[in-house]
Amino acid sequence: MSNANNPDYRLMRLEYLTNDAETLGNDYHRYLSYFLGRFQGCPEFYNYEALAYTIRERLMVGWRNTWADYLEPGTRRAYYMSLEFLIGRSLSNNLINLGLTGNVKTALDNYCANLEAIVEEEPDAGLGNGGLGRLAACFMDSCATLRLPVIGYGIRYEYGMFRQRINNGYQAEDPDHWLSDGNPWEIERPEYKQRIQFGGRTERYNDAQGKPRVRWVETSDVIAVPFDMPIAGYKNDTVNTLRLWKSSATNEFDLQEFNDGSYSEAVQAKNNAEHISMVLYPNDSSENGKELRLRQQYFLASSSLKDAIRIWEASGQTQYERFFAAENVFQMNDTHPTIAVAELMRILVDEKGLEWDAAWQITSKCMAYTNHTLLPEALERWPVHLFERLLPRLLEIIYEINARFLTEVARRWPGDVDRQRRMSLIEEGPVRQVRMAWLAIVGSFSINGVAALHSQLLIEGLFRDFYELWPEKFNNKTNGVTPRRWVAQANPLMSALITEKIGDGWVRDLSQLAGLKPYAEPAQREFQQRWHDTKLANKRRLAALVKAECQVDFDPTALFDIQVKRIHEYKRQLLNLLHVVHLYRRIRLGKTENMVNRCVLIGGKAAPGYIMAKRIIKMINSVAQVVNSDPEVDGKLKLAFLPNYRVSSMEIIAPAADLSEQISTAGKEASGTGNMKLMMNGALTIGTYDGANIEILDAVGAENFFLFGLRANEVEALRRNYRPWEYVEQDEDLKGVLDLIRSGHFNQWEPGIFDRVLDALLNPNDPWMTLADFRSYVAMQEQVAKAWQDQERWTRMSILNTANSGFFSTDRTMLEYNQDIWHLKSLSDD
Ligand SMILES: *Cc1c(COP(=O)(O)O)cnc(C)c1O
Repeated sequence: MSNANNPDYRLMRLEYLTNDAETLGNDYHRYLSYFLGRFQGCPEFYNYEALAYTIRERLMVGWRNTWADYLEPGTRRAYYMSLEFLIGRSLSNNLINLGLTGNVKTALDNYCANLEAIVEEEPDAGLGNGGLGRLAACFMDSCATLRLPVIGYGIRYEYGMFRQRINNGYQAEDPDHWLSDGNPWEIERPEYKQRIQFGGRTERYNDAQGKPRVRWVETSDVIAVPFDMPIAGYKNDTVNTLRLWKSSATNEFDLQEFNDGSYSEAVQAKNNAEHISMVLYPNDSSENGKELRLRQQYFLASSSLKDAIRIWEASGQTQYERFFAAENVFQMNDTHPTIAVAELMRILVDEKGLEWDAAWQITSKCMAYTNHTLLPEALERWPVHLFERLLPRLLEIIYEINARFLTEVARRWPGDVDRQRRMSLIEEGPVRQVRMAWLAIVGSFSINGVAALHSQLLIEGLFRDFYELWPEKFNNKTNGVTPRRWVAQANPLMSALITEKIGDGWVRDLSQLAGLKPYAEPAQREFQQRWHDTKLANKRRLAALVKAECQVDFDPTALFDIQVKRIHEYKRQLLNLLHVVHLYRRIRLGKTENMVNRCVLIGGKAAPGYIMAKRIIKMINSVAQVVNSDPEVDGKLKLAFLPNYRVSSMEIIAPAADLSEQISTAGKEASGTGNMKLMMNGALTIGTYDGANIEILDAVGAENFFLFGLRANEVEALRRNYRPWEYVEQDEDLKGVLDLIRSGHFNQWEPGIFDRVLDALLNPNDPWMTLADFRSYVAMQEQVAKAWQDQERWTRMSILNTANSGFFSTDRTMLEYNQDIWHLKSLSDD
């Protein structure tokens, strides 16, 4: 190993612990009895804790060695900055990645403990809203598996994503105090705490050399304390780090207040500091605009940059101009951490004493930005007055960046004032605002979208002016998901079957799933029967969950038709619901020819302030109640809304899905990753030509994908003269569906509650144009039913979906980030 002559590293070397079932059992028992002071027969949670510590011990040697390798002088490192990491559970994932699942099962058997039950004790680490946060978690897994020196930076929210309950069909939110019983996977590192400034004012002065400088004074400071979580690579002894910051008060009191006898008030002030990392904002794909959110963003950006600089200086570096950008790269997950551009400038200029131009050279060479959405409501803008009060020095720096940038724009397009206005980092108006996406673009050397269509739409539309200025900055990185969690861990039955046929290389190299293609040939009846049986077993598992959570009976032999994702109008859960009502009408009208038994499952959280999304949840539950209790329906159709959709529920859902609903308005879903999890697990997709659906369609072939609906360019063309009522007039079925809903059939005791939803569908300004796609959706659902009637054909299509899903591994995504943006050396290249 290259750092064998680093004396500290040699001294620190530890022996790996042994991993046979007997030793694992002994260690688990020791933790239970001697660390937690409990006995067999205690509450299950202690078994979970004892097992978690047993596994955590086994990560430590790899963790320390990995750090030692990353701290080698000259190592280039990447820092993934994200306000969200939707991690889910760690125990089962670590067991998979360490290859310990089998031995742990055996070990627990000897103590009459059951692994499945223990796994269920772990709360999800729900530090994210949806796709964006889950992507960050999948990236961490892949970077560790690829042995890339990537460190994740996030916030250790005390309260994660709220828990969703359904009360009389309505969403109710409960706080998720996931840390209340402690978190065995984290280790506090108080020695690496950072001081973060807020408020105050700026002051000009001349330094000892007589050079004019600026300092930020009279600030109210907050301490950022890091908590580290180990991220194990897949069977490679590499353990990367996710470093999450918790805010805490400084040890200083307001002396004046203290001396005035206001002891309680002086202590009270400290409370504010703790608030920063208290709660995750539960908005997906929409900005929030709250002051506390801006505090969170700066808190993350500043503490992470200071930490990265500390690490770099600790490896002996001092020459910023020569080496900093060569050895550090920061990937910003959406605009949320974008204040990092200005913060790095502040640190380099104000604290390290660099000249502006030198600092800008560095900053604009080590920042990279990933855009996640084209929705205008998600574009972050912060009022200038808020910046002025909260981060006065950062605002000055943004003004300076903007002045220099606009000079460049004016030089390139002389006299084009409209373009200068469009591209300015400051939006003029009654309330002047800082445009965070523009700051991210100007400050970054790389800007990427998250699927081919999305990246194309970005440079044609939203980022067009910037693309004309700097075409070389823009690139695409299609998202992925980690096959360790989403296949190996979530679907052990299918994984065993695959491994039996093509070996286990696919877990590390998902393109090897292509080796399954021959098994979709008609001659491979035996394999296909086993594939079908595996899916059936997974469907039984999901049916049990649906029964327990929704009190609805799903017949495992029926078609499982699944839509799980955040509830949002652009994702069009309503279109799905209109189809369910259409099927219900057909049954009542006796028009059931070519219908198949279908169980429709919808799940997802609505942002607490998103009234329309919450009303859609109520509507799903109302329709479900009527459909499921109508004797005429008689098992042909079931509808259930699964409460509290989260990572650990997706681990049950994805392996059990037959049909994956990916039905967003074309041009609106940047990528989607739920679509990939479901495809990998052998679901067929019914989808629009949107986001990564397009790449899924390309990979699996049109004959194995149910494509429908308008394309992005057709949606935009139609927008100018969209007349939704015409679709209703021309379509008896659609008219019948809307009339039935309007009649109050599904809301007999709450009249009128769905009128607003119907009005939105019929509004010519409906941005999601749901009714325009109704007929082609229904027609394609008929093709789905036809395919399902031929079970052998369906199974072959299912195998081909899994076989062609290799591209959607985040291992591929991370290799592309590394080749095109990060240029890190993998530990494996030594
Ligand atoms: C994968 C995942 C998502 C993203 O789903 P999309 O269908 O891509 O929107 C959201 N939430 C959870 C819990 C997930 O696992």
